[in-house]
Amino acid sequence: MLTLPCPFCGQRDETEFLNTGPTKPARPSSDVTDSEWINWLTVPVNPVGYVEEKWWHVKGCGKYFTIKRHTVTHQIKMPDEDSA
Ligand SMILES: [Zn+2]
Repeated sequence: MLTLPCPFCGQRDETEFLNTGPTKPARPSSDVTDSEWINWLTVPVNPVGYVEEKWWHVKGCGKYFTIKRHTVTHQIKMPDEDSA
């Protein structure tokens, strides 16, 4: 069972949360090619390793927050922690 660290409520069971998806990379500048633009719009980031995700504490405080979750081990870090 996964537990998540809500910055407002502390450690809580994952059943209290809704994953609203990975945070997107920064919007590309206007001089990108059509294929680069389509990739940014439609291709989700799916690496092996840590990804930044937005979570909503829907059954708790109701606030949104960002964490880093390892896609294989599900280890959780806060975004300002070292990603090593
Ligand atoms: Zn909370």
